[in-house]
Amino acid sequence: MTGSPEVVSDFLDAVEGAARNAAELEYDRLLSKQQELAPDATTVSDWSRSYLAELIRKSDYELDSQEVRKYFAYNDVRDGIFALVEDLFGVEIKPWEGAPVWQESVSAHEMYRDGKLVGRFFLDMHPRDGKYKHAAAFPIRFGPTSDGVPVASLICNFPAGDHTTGLMEHGQVETFLHEFGHLIHMLFSGQPDYANLNMGNLEWDFIEAPSQMLENWVWDYDTLAKFAKDADGNVIPPELVEKMVAARDFGIGVGTLRQLLYANVSLDYYNRPSSEVDFDEIWNENQSKLSPFVTLPDVHPYASFGHLDGYSAIYYTYQWSLAISTDLFSEFEANGLRDATTAARYRDLVLAPGASKPAAELVHDFLGRDWSPEAYEAYLLHAAEGEAEE
Ligand SMILES: [Zn+2]
Repeated sequence: MTGSPEVVSDFLDAVEGAARNAAELEYDRLLSKQQELAPDATTVSDWSRSYLAELIRKSDYELDSQEVRKYFAYNDVRDGIFALVEDLFGVEIKPWEGAPVWQESVSAHEMYRDGKLVGRFFLDMHPRDGKYKHAAAFPIRFGPTSDGVPVASLICNFPAGDHTTGLMEHGQVETFLHEFGHLIHMLFSGQPDYANLNMGNLEWDFIEAPSQMLENWVWDYDTLAKFAKDADGNVIPPELVEKMVAARDFGIGVGTLRQLLYANVSLDYYNRPSSEVDFDEIWNENQSKLSPFVTLPDVHPYASFGHLDGYSAIYYTYQWSLAISTDLFSEFEANGLRDATTAARYRDLVLAPGASKPAAELVHDFLGRDWSPEAYEAYLLHAAEGEAEE
């Protein structure tokens, strides 16, 4: 979508400008927390960041991730995500009888719209020996196939079952919905006459946006209240969701700068002749500009930066598509997260056309204007205001 490295650099610089304030305020809070534990501390180490952030969520937001977990049993979460997608996009999900599953824990499903089969999918959601370790959506057939519909699969590693064995972290619920977003994109876009026009051929810097947008629904009380229940059937309390939402943005500034570090390093390793690439120098230069954490001597973080292989120069796509997803979501925020007309327009104008148009046109069709990073920048600036109040 970007067309040139300059467009990417300008975009990354603008995001940095919007995130910096929140990052500085967050760093100060991390340092204060560190000083409660070690009064002589003058800096925060990168490796203490997640631990200190969890302590801050407990002390400042009274949020205990273990308390949250008891409302998210896998079976309920799966049913809740099915129901959400059914309500939003006017589809029905049914068992796929007689499906050729490859393992007994794999379930198979069909998605219908107005009584017509849209696609089929498998859920392979729990860990076992020798299995892929991450969470992802995979196309099996993009369709239209001999029986006319695409087939896709989710491969994830979540706990299985009810409240005794299947409790999930809220982040896992978000991941489930994110991956399910890719899956429905595959099914909705698998309908054209030419198989190559499915979503798999969309620009890479757009492909994450629909799933990133969908993540917002797991922060919506009305959505959670439909399926988040504890073992006794008590619905998740609104006050708990309020705390989750309040704590959601803590860390967004520091986290965004981290993403910008990766994005700039990835770009800088590829925007010059290879003879001029000094891996350490480029990393350290970007690190000192973008990370509030101390750079340690004799470490080479790029060596474990797996996305350099595969993504090469385009790690920026995560931030770029996040900015698009924020703009897309603004339409739902304005009209209501359950607004059927908005959801139907989104399904028909953004998801279903697959790669039959450039992504910028799909977004334009839905928003009625060109997309802009302003909504994302405003969100980051707003996070800083929230920080300042804490
Ligand atoms: Zn994704």
